[in-house]
Amino acid sequence: MTDQNDILFERARAVIPGGVNSPVRAFKAVGGTPRFIQRAQGAYFWDANDKRYIDYIGSWGPMILGHGHPAVVEAVQKAVLEGFSYGAPTEREIELAEAILALVPSMEMVRLVSSGTEAAMSALRLARGATGRKTIVKFEGCYHGHADALLVKAGSGLATFGNPTSAGVPPEVVQHTLVLEYNNLQQLDEAFALHGQDIACLMIEAIAGNMNFVRATPEFAKRCRELCTQHGALLIFDEVMTGFRVGLHGAQGVLGVTPDLTVLGKVIGGGMPLAAFGGPRAIMEQLAPLGPVYQAGTLSGNPVATACGLATLKEISKPGFYEALAKKTRTLVDGLKAAAVAEGQPFNADSEGGMFGFFLMNELPQNYATVMTTDNAQFNALFHGLLDRGVYIAPALYEAGFVSAAHSEDDIAATIAAAREIFSKR
Ligand SMILES: *Cc1c(COP(=O)(O)O)cnc(C)c1O
Repeated sequence: MTDQNDILFERARAVIPGGVNSPVRAFKAVGGTPRFIQRAQGAYFWDANDKRYIDYIGSWGPMILGHGHPAVVEAVQKAVLEGFSYGAPTEREIELAEAILALVPSMEMVRLVSSGTEAAMSALRLARGATGRKTIVKFEGCYHGHADALLVKAGSGLATFGNPTSAGVPPEVVQHTLVLEYNNLQQLDEAFALHGQDIACLMIEAIAGNMNFVRATPEFAKRCRELCTQHGALLIFDEVMTGFRVGLHGAQGVLGVTPDLTVLGKVIGGGMPLAAFGGPRAIMEQLAPLGPVYQAGTLSGNPVATACGLATLKEISKPGFYEALAKKTRTLVDGLKAAAVAEGQPFNADSEGGMFGFFLMNELPQNYATVMTTDNAQFNALFHGLLDRGVYIAPALYEAGFVSAAHSEDDIAATIAAAREIFSKR
């Protein structure tokens, strides 16, 4: 064996389940050996064979500035010298909280945590605590981290609740989770008509990035808001992926819909473990130590992570940042589409800000079931074709893609050319 990725994968599998610390990294859906990354700079990373890839996952969203942005590196280096963690409050946490609140007007207060999973789980507990209700509504294809109550798929009808999607989650734990079809207005209305008085919250990715890239229609997002207001439920936007990624004000800014609670992660940490949830003061003050809803974390608001997040937010707040990023991302999806059309490959694509998705079909799917009709073999051929040509996209067809400020026009053009070559050889 001379391929260093193969060697590392074998070593990893001996000591880490599946050789990875998060399942999608294992390339199980696409086959082949995962690339072990040794370093990254700008729009690129290099694997264990020192092969360079144009990176379109950006750590699954956080690396919006590209890797190793000098201002971020400097902020982190300075913070490290001042100490890694204190378990006591710092001024930098206030600064980051103030920066987040200034950019997301629906949030009056925020609490910092260490992962998106933790933020979503805590927002859910807060919603239940604040409303005194049990039922939660989520949508098929939306991912909100791996808290027990959220690892659930639809039951057999609206009267029945969900079934666990993971072993180790007792059915009782998801018995209050109602799973609905994304963008299905009629089902949404029926669910609230049937269960409205019991619903604590509705949690949604308003631009979904965990079933490739699917937008909630404006009517659907608006209806979610109306129904929650009417029935006294809280609307939670899970913006772990879309926050500071689709635009400076998240999916709520793009759609013009105001949620009660917002969950953030990924970009706000700039690549460090950092996430947050927040909303109106009256709801947030239900949290411990002020209120009865318990929530805590040893590394919450970590001084190095907050330095990284703050430096990242400062860069993305500069005038014209998202206009340039959105334009570049559009150039990529338009170019891929044109290449596919030229080679007779069914294809459609969409993007918002620095986040995109493409589909090997002519329509843009509206829900998870349609996304999943994608031809797996065709996607895998495209994935491996791109990988061979030094382009790294998400190793699963149900994931979104990410462009960073560091991607150049040449990177985009090279990506489109690589895709066209693959489409032409189908
Ligand atoms: C990534 C993601 C999460 C989970 O965040 P982790 O930091 O991986 O725990 C939750 N919700 C959405 C929408 C995400 O994209």
